[in-house]
Amino acid sequence: MENTLFLYNTLSRTKEKFVPIHEGHVGMYVCGPTVYGDAHLGHSRPAVTFDLVFRYLKHLGFKVRYVRNITDVGHLENDADEGEDKIAKKARLEELEPMEVVQYFSDRYHNSMDKLNVLKPSIEPRASGHIIEQIQMVQTILDAGFAYESNGSVYFDVEKYNKENRYGILSGRILEDLLSNTRELEGQDEKRNSFDFAIWKKAQPEHIMRWPSPWSDGFPGWHLECSAMSAKYLGEQFDIHGGGMDLLFPHHESEIAQSTVCHHQTPARYWLHNNMITINGQKMGKSLGNFITLDEFFAGTHKALEKAYSPMTIRFFILMAHYRSPLDFSNEALQAAEKGLSRLLKSIVTLSKLSAGSTSTSNITELEEKCYEAMNDDLNSPILIANLFEGVRIINSVNDQKESLTQVDLDKLKNLFNTFIFDILGLMPESDQQAGNEVIEGLMNLVLEFRANARANKDWTTSDKIRDALAGLKISVKDTKNGVTWNLD
Ligand code: ZN
Repeated sequence: MENTLFLYNTLSRTKEKFVPIHEGHVGMYVCGPTVYGDAHLGHSRPAVTFDLVFRYLKHLGFKVRYVRNITDVGHLENDADEGEDKIAKKARLEELEPMEVVQYFSDRYHNSMDKLNVLKPSIEPRASGHIIEQIQMVQTILDAGFAYESNGSVYFDVEKYNKENRYGILSGRILEDLLSNTRELEGQDEKRNSFDFAIWKKAQPEHIMRWPSPWSDGFPGWHLECSAMSAKYLGEQFDIHGGGMDLLFPHHESEIAQSTVCHHQTPARYWLHNNMITINGQKMGKSLGNFITLDEFFAGTHKALEKAYSPMTIRFFILMAHYRSPLDFSNEALQAAEKGLSRLLKSIVTLSKLSAGSTSTSNITELEEKCYEAMNDDLNSPILIANLFEGVRIINSVNDQKESLTQVDLDKLKNLFNTFIFDILGLMPESDQQAGNEVIEGLMNLVLEFRANARANKDWTTSDKIRDALAGLKISVKDTKNGVTWNLD
């Protein structure tokens, strides 16, 4: 198949024809999660977006090496290299080893991704497993004169870099503007300029995640891991670098600066960024009380949710918007997605039962071309979905005997639906899973009613028996002010 895929490149700010460095092969790096909490709606968008990229490139016949990292060290609470390491903080609060926190939340993240039918990347490297590579990069940057040591920490010298290169090439920011906009923060006296960023941080005495280095016992700066791991697994220059728009600055901007100093070229040719998800027009945040985890969506347990939404509903909801457009969550929008998905999946059953006519009243070849055109135009999934709904209209019309399709066109339409709905959009029928969930929900309500009755009658033998049996099934029950809740651990 001829490749006519165009992608919007954040670096050039235009749609460019996608031409890989090595014919037939694609190297793609996407910034993965910092694993210190449950995956929430915000995590699902980059995961589904780059899953769509991965699936479509594979469909076009490319051999894709997809690297998505796990950040398990070095991501501090704020971008000015201040505050505690996010993983270390969680470990301190929960009295766990940092790597226990990492394991627990990585497992849960993978579980949520499996439910969303997000394919596993080819390599999923962790920052803590690549300390040597990162120390080597710090040394190279120091040797090249683009970093300086201060009190055992090493900072990237942005101003010096900007004299020969452009810091801001990706985000469009101008260093002089940054200079006038940054206020001096306390504790930043180690840096020559407030916009310099740490590539190595000396660990405070209480900091447990630390490694020896020529400068101090410490840990790498957050931006460095992606530069080190992408070069290790994809080479000094590779094809696609992706992530959420929130990572564009300073994370990706700094990655470009570090890699350019070490390898004398921009690390990736195409930079793809997905837009963010808002909730009823507001940014998501723990403090705003609208921070909904994926498990809460699947179980319908957050107060902002009118009901539970299945993983495929969430996936379809994300795909119904173009990845570069903002996407606003609301119960209405998700219920519309749920209805649309159900209509699309039902039509596949209808399609399998249609019988062929002697003529075709619709042009299926043209419909197929439109589907490819949409995907080739910077992965325009909403236009693709609109075309698939034109397919649904044709199917229903043939079913109502208002239109007809020949056997050749029927087969073509079946193939088209299979390819785009299952392989490329990555949707899957989930009626079994949904039905199963409803049965579990019903049974749990019954069991909890027995438990409530037993407790009301002070029948502790029965209530204990129910509690132990549920614990044996790894179901935890909590009594809260608003009633009884339960969770699968
Ligand atoms: Zn990254």
